[in-house]
This record gives sequence, C-alpha cells and structure tokens, in this order.
Amino acid sequence: MPRNDLDAAWMPFTANRSFKAAPRLLSRADGMLYWTPEGREVLDATAGLWCVNAGHNRRQITEAITRTATSLDFAPTFQMGHPLMFEAASRIAGVTPPGLDRIFFTNSGSESADTALKIALAYHRANGQPQRTMLIGRERGYHGINFGGLSVGGIGANRKQFGPLLGNVDHLPHTHLPSNRFARFQPEHGVELADALTGLVQLHGADSIAAVIVEPVAGSTGVLVPPVGYLEKLRALCDEHGILLIFDEVITGFGRLGTPFAAERFGVTPDLLTMAKGLTNAAVPMGAVAASEAIYRTVVENAPPGIELFHGYTYSGHPLACAAAIATLDIHRDEELPARARAIEPEWREAVHSLRDRPGVVDIRDAGLIAGIELEPFAGRPAERAARIMQHCFDNGLLIRTTADTIALSPPLILERTHIDRIVTTLGEAISAAT
Ligand code: PLP
Repeated sequence: MPRNDLDAAWMPFTANRSFKAAPRLLSRADGMLYWTPEGREVLDATAGLWCVNAGHNRRQITEAITRTATSLDFAPTFQMGHPLMFEAASRIAGVTPPGLDRIFFTNSGSESADTALKIALAYHRANGQPQRTMLIGRERGYHGINFGGLSVGGIGANRKQFGPLLGNVDHLPHTHLPSNRFARFQPEHGVELADALTGLVQLHGADSIAAVIVEPVAGSTGVLVPPVGYLEKLRALCDEHGILLIFDEVITGFGRLGTPFAAERFGVTPDLLTMAKGLTNAAVPMGAVAASEAIYRTVVENAPPGIELFHGYTYSGHPLACAAAIATLDIHRDEELPARARAIEPEWREAVHSLRDRPGVVDIRDAGLIAGIELEPFAGRPAERAARIMQHCFDNGLLIRTTADTIALSPPLILERTHIDRIVTTLGEAISAAT
C-alpha cells in the first residue's frame, strides 16, 4: 500500500527517493509562469520540458481540445479516418521543409524516432536494397527511450540497465570540442567530425547502412550545437552513399531556432524529420514523422495491394491531439512565433553569455532560444552542483533544467526582455551560491 499521496506514482527520469522527501510541485500555469500549490509564482525558463513553445494555457488550444472532446472523442485511424487528422497533416506539411510533405502521426518523440527508423528500413526494402539494415546514431544523442531510439541514442546511463538493445547499430562521435568553448551559436571547429561517417561506411560497407539519425542541436546531453558545415557534410556523405538522413527535431522544431524547423535555419534538408512536443504546445501528447515524397512513394507504390506499412498506434492522429496541433499552428502563424524568437535571439544570447565569469562556469553554448551552461562538477560528486543550482532557482521562483552538470534553458518563445533579465539574475545568483 502506498504510504502517502506521492508514493503510488513511480516518477519518470526522477530520483524518486529524494523527490518524495522534498517534492517540487506545479499546479497551475499561464503564459510564462507556473504556480506551486501554495500559490508561489515560478518563471518557466524551460517551456515545461522543451515543449510549451507558445506559452502556457493558450485559450485557443484548450478551447479547440474541449470542442473536439465533446464532438468526436475518438475515431480509429486504421482503415478509417476523421477529417481533423487530414487537416492537421496538411497544416504540418505547410511548415515542414519543402519536400517533406507526408506526415505519419505518433504520440511522442520516442515513438517518432522509432517510427522514422522503421520507415527507413521499409524504404530500403521497398527500394530493392533489403540488406541496408544498419542504423547510425551519435554519441550523446537522445532519441527517446523506446528500443530503437535508445539503440541509436548515445547516453550510457539510459542504456546500461537494459542489456544489449538493437545489434545492428553504430555511432558517430559527438560534436562537443573543448576548442569551441563559449562559442556563440555555431562553433567554428569540428566540421571534420562528420567524416567519421566515411569511416563507418568503410568499416561496414555503404550498402549495409539504412540511415543516420541526429538531432540538429543535441539538447538532452547539454546543448551541443553543430559546428559550421557539419550538417551539410553529413547530408553530402549520406547522398553519396545512398543513406537516409533523419533529423530528430523533437526539441528544435516549432520555432525554437527562429525558423519552423532547424533544418531551415541550418539550410540542410533531411529525408525524414521527427517532431513532437511543440506540435501541440504539449497540451495533448502527439508526435509525427515527416517523410519525403520519394520515401512515401517508394514504400506505398511498390507494395502489393493492401496495407503498405505495417506500423501505427491506436492513438495515431487522435482527434484531440489533431485539434490541438491545428490550433497551435494557428498561433504560430498569427503571432509569427518563429520570427519573434529570431528577433529576441541576440538579446538572449548576450544575456546568457554574461554568466561566463560566474564561479564554476566552464562553457556556455546557445542556439536560437536554447542555452546550455556547463559547470565544473564538484570533485567526486557529479551533477550535485547543477542540482543545487536548480533547487536554488526553484526556491527563488525560476524553473530551469539540468542534465549532469549542464544547465539547459529553453524558454517559451513568447519570452520578453523582462523575463530574460529575471532568468539571468536569479540563475546568476544561484550559480554564485553553489560553490
Ligand atoms: N528526441 C529528442 C531529440 C528529444 O529531446 C526527446 C525528448 O526530450 C525525445 C526524442 C523523446 O520524446 P518523448 O519524451 O516525447 O518520447
């Protein structure tokens, strides 16, 4: 039997024991703010979990969900359909990079990663190259926690409890170089790290590799921004060797980098693009994969009559999620959220880099409205310094996120100058106090 109100829930990616001893609860949200159950205001510098890009509790979205819930609670999308699913897919195709117009719905970023990997495998099989089965990820990459995404992911701690995972997988090196410390936006050094793909091609044979999956900006392992020319080079090598390129845009999508997707900001278009989080402003779970026309046509048109792709979720294209996605895209369009993010980005960048002389700060990285502040760990006590800073911020009305000893910031895109000042002031004090 649970011992108190908190005991029954086994919390995800949480130190359950210490959390339940001293819980941090959020019970209400609006705009840039959360409130605790006691009514204490907390400024959200993380857009929830990289997902509430349009700010909290947007009436347009909640009304669309409510309206839909009372008219079409659910409709199956296996061999059936409902209008909102097709409308949502068309609207998403309106903001994805040109050519990535075929939208497959999932319910999360993890499901999107596994879906994209499976579509890549199905594509090669339909294209007469069934031997292309190897999947290439990257060290320090995060593609969610299902078996496919975990296998191509590069976070040791996430993998080690779960055995060998998928076998036919290899990894590129990560792009974090000490010579790039305190770079602003894209670092100068490291384009040659993409050449590791040539090494993997030589090792495994080009015609055995199905796809390469990377986050344009790696978020979960501490905000790793691609060096100048790196993504372009990966794209060129994939083209040269017939390998599909997948961008995991679960956090970089929906305006976070000042463009609808990071692909546009970096001028590199993948063959498959995964999304989730900001797609519905996080009001209802939803993810999606955008596939190129060539991939869709190859899989669908080369299949025998009947179902072409044996994949899907009961809740793929759930009506409530579709309604939320359409309303979210309306807000992004009407309020020009990507442009708004782009306009405030220089102020954001200067503000976060102003923290460089605080004690223990060893690097600061930024991309769009994302920032990573890396700290020297306390000797023999990894992650404790960042955890103390996080608690100090929360006690003083600021929500930040930490990953090991890096602070990751990703505020809602409706951020204003006063919010930037509050974030930097409170965080600066917290960093100075954690010595
Ligand atoms: N991919 C990336 C790049 C992410 O950052 C995340 C979550 O943070 C995921 C996938 C997993 O998304 P979800 O937690 O919705 O499954």
